[in-house]
Amino acid sequence: MTLRRTLSTVGVAALLGAALVGSPAAASFAVGTGGDAVACVDPAALGAAKARPGATAKHDPNELTATEVAKREKDLADRTRLNNKLSGAPSALAATVTIEVVVHVISEDGTRANGSIPDSMITNQISILNTSYAGGFGGANTGFQFHLQSIDRQIAPAWYPIVDGSTAEKQMKAALRTGTKATLNIYTGLLSNNLLGWATFPKTTLDTYDGVVILAESLPGGTASPYNLGDTATHEIGHWLNLYHTFQGGCNGGGDQVADTPAEKSAAFGCPANRDTCPSKAGLDPIHNYMDYTDDSCMYEFTAGQVARMSAAWTAYRA
Ligand SMILES: [Zn+2]
Repeated sequence: MTLRRTLSTVGVAALLGAALVGSPAAASFAVGTGGDAVACVDPAALGAAKARPGATAKHDPNELTATEVAKREKDLADRTRLNNKLSGAPSALAATVTIEVVVHVISEDGTRANGSIPDSMITNQISILNTSYAGGFGGANTGFQFHLQSIDRQIAPAWYPIVDGSTAEKQMKAALRTGTKATLNIYTGLLSNNLLGWATFPKTTLDTYDGVVILAESLPGGTASPYNLGDTATHEIGHWLNLYHTFQGGCNGGGDQVADTPAEKSAAFGCPANRDTCPSKAGLDPIHNYMDYTDDSCMYEFTAGQVARMSAAWTAYRA
């Protein structure tokens, strides 16, 4: 908590600074071309002209369509039923699941300016993940922990920057991805379109595209303020564990398919107090949830419902 509070102060100062110069705290995230990946962008870096592409969800490709959500939900339910039949009983997640992590550091030329971040940022990132997923900054203990298996350094101009959905990205992952469905492969580097990161959702069959891509400078101590406390990884791994954005689906319907995250019409940025974009639904917007788009200093929790969803998906797809 101490760490987060200290960094929080810095984050608030940065936010105030942004407000003073009139910079809108808006951002857009994008879903990958396959419909199975979710990406996140720092809009401040895009400039006002290229801020969010509008309120029309389908044109803002970060959100899945209702059809895509329905398909994913049916698959999860089917898979869970099958597993229960095979095992004879609903399977409970072990008290703690430790996920092996392989970090692929992609650099253009081996310099920090071009992606070659130090080991210390990576070990600090793992530490942040272990605290955030244990509920150490607030919210629920997810039961997931992370163990750094290895750091893989690649000087690869052909893969740099990492472009969401590109052939080069597919080639990079095909060459580098290691382990089973339970192995978390993280790729860091400079990303296309000022994205902060993107991730694949779990699915029944493993392919080499599976994994999480994050902006290298979003790791703790990086330069991507106010997104440099390590919560881009927290957020993207949430997708990798089957969580949707808290604003998925807006105010209506099943939203993010989690009962205890209040409905939210659209992504929140910065750290807006008392935001309530679905006034006819219970609760204020879940701006402190890791699966919203607020500043790192503002997000500090997963809910019990999200934990249940991640646990079910782990058993169904990755265990
Ligand atoms: Zn996201």
